[in-house]
Amino acid sequence: MAWLLVAALLASSALASQSVLPPTETRSPVDLERELQAPWQAGGEIAVYAAADGSPRAGRRSPPPADAGEEQARRAEHFALARKLNLVTAYRVVPYALPLSEAQVELLERFARTDAGAVWFREVADDTLRLFNQGYLEYDVGSWQAFLAGGSRPRLSELISGRLSEAGLFAQDAAVFRIYAFHGSGSMGGAASIRMGHAGFRCQFQMSGETVDPFAILSHEFGHSRYGDPWSAGMPLGEARTVARYENPVRLRDGFPPRLVYYLRMDPGRPIGTRDPLYNRLLAWREYKKQDLAELAPVEGLYCECPDTPGALRDCLAEPDPNPCELRWVAVRVPPPMDAP
Ligand SMILES: [Zn+2]
Repeated sequence: MAWLLVAALLASSALASQSVLPPTETRSPVDLERELQAPWQAGGEIAVYAAADGSPRAGRRSPPPADAGEEQARRAEHFALARKLNLVTAYRVVPYALPLSEAQVELLERFARTDAGAVWFREVADDTLRLFNQGYLEYDVGSWQAFLAGGSRPRLSELISGRLSEAGLFAQDAAVFRIYAFHGSGSMGGAASIRMGHAGFRCQFQMSGETVDPFAILSHEFGHSRYGDPWSAGMPLGEARTVARYENPVRLRDGFPPRLVYYLRMDPGRPIGTRDPLYNRLLAWREYKKQDLAELAPVEGLYCECPDTPGALRDCLAEPDPNPCELRWVAVRVPPPMDAP
């Protein structure tokens, strides 16, 4: 064991001059506009090092990348980490989660190489560092010991297996962010997951006909996650803000016009009294029109789908009772970008 300690000290002193710092203990919400104006997005290079007891730790080196190639290498390492730990690519990893298709993994990889994607996957990677430093991730002990014995320093993405360690399996605070698939089209974002429909994205948004930018949509979903504003999903104001803060900055950079109206369609298969908070709010609003007016301020309109004229949309509030039509659409106004012409 003594040689291990000596080797650990040598390994950590070799890094001392480079100051490898673990990520901050708590996350701070991504300010995408500000991040996109910075020269680089991926953050410091991830490096593993030995703690005093010889166990592995991971942190980031402070120097910015020397060039675009180094920046891309950092983005690639973040995606390699996500591919191992966060992307669901097999059944039964997460209950009820469908594995991502190869095309979906490729789309995510291309997104991770963009500036906006680099910001989000950097945050996901920081969570991985936190989990790793808590001892919650299984790693290859053989290659770690080879490194302590003087071998080359392994990349974190090579060292972890993608599974939780025994400590991680029983830890209450080991919440791995997951990206997985579902039957259907489009995507959804929650605090701890992003779900992508196997049918992919539409080319145009329904109702508005605005062109869909898949990368901007992914950024939108990350905006609903714990890396952005996890209280934004399911509320008109939250959706409007999410489009403005996390989706439109990406659209503008990708050469698309900003999205000015967010249309939400409730799945017709869904029974009334669903757990969808936005739907419930709107149903409640229809009955008690005075409540939560500030939250509903960006709601542009509510529309129905009627059984006798499928696809026809009418203003639900104008419908006489009893109303055979179902409230299925909501239009939410998005504040225009500050620098819009
Ligand atoms: Zn949303």
